[in-house]
Amino acid sequence: MSTLQLKQVVKNFDDTQVIKGVDLDVNDREFVVFVGPSGCGKSTLLRIIAGLESASSGDVLVDGKRINDIGPAERGLAMVFQSYALYPHMTVEDNMGFSLRLAGVPKAERREKVREAARILQLEPLLDRKPKALSGGQRQRVAIGRAIVRNPSIFLFDEPLSNLDAALRVQMRIELARLHEELDATMIYVTHDQIEAMTMADKIVVLQGGVVEQVGSPMELYHHPRNRFVAGFIGSPK
Ligand code: ADP
Ligand code: MG
Repeated sequence: MSTLQLKQVVKNFDDTQVIKGVDLDVNDREFVVFVGPSGCGKSTLLRIIAGLESASSGDVLVDGKRINDIGPAERGLAMVFQSYALYPHMTVEDNMGFSLRLAGVPKAERREKVREAARILQLEPLLDRKPKALSGGQRQRVAIGRAIVRNPSIFLFDEPLSNLDAALRVQMRIELARLHEELDATMIYVTHDQIEAMTMADKIVVLQGGVVEQVGSPMELYHHPRNRFVAGFIGSPK
């Protein structure tokens, strides 16, 4: 069971309020997509959930428990970024197992977890390679593998596909959907791409200027956009 709730979350950077009182409910095993134009606060909100930024006010709850004061490593969440940030001198296997090594997980257990993630991501033949010998899509799979080995209660993705070309993006969307099924996990996925949101989400959260404009299923937003902004952004005919 992994639910997430945000209650009146606010974030100020100096004098500027970039998140303006966001409320949100994410259900267990839901695939939730935050969508909105560049600068609307998607990454900031995800970083607050991950514990990489602190909220100026408001609460973040996982399974009903307030986690504002718990550090990022202890939250049981895992984040996948747009830039893969793999260690160039380490093999795929060592990259994927690195956080486990830091956490003091014994080598045999690390190896088992990395092999299992590699199986899920079809990276098994590449475990001995260095990142420079991988394609963009393979590198992004390694970055996802680093998250999987930690067995997080919730996965957080910040525009993980935006560095990939169009054909590979389509393929990775399908893979992520399969991953969501196989891992049975709660996932929060940030994108500025409406098509990604419409094709991947159980629930879409449309953000603009640090405010949630609307929350709903892709079909709800498409057929019943609450305002012109949502209609325009989702590509609804209304
Ligand atoms: P998005 O991910 O939707 O493009 P961000 O969450 O990155 O948007 O940014 C939201 C707003 O907050 C932007 O106006 C951005 O310039 C500002 N911002 C983000 N991080 C910082 C920071 N560390 N210091 C000051 N302003 C920031
Ligand atoms: Mg961003």
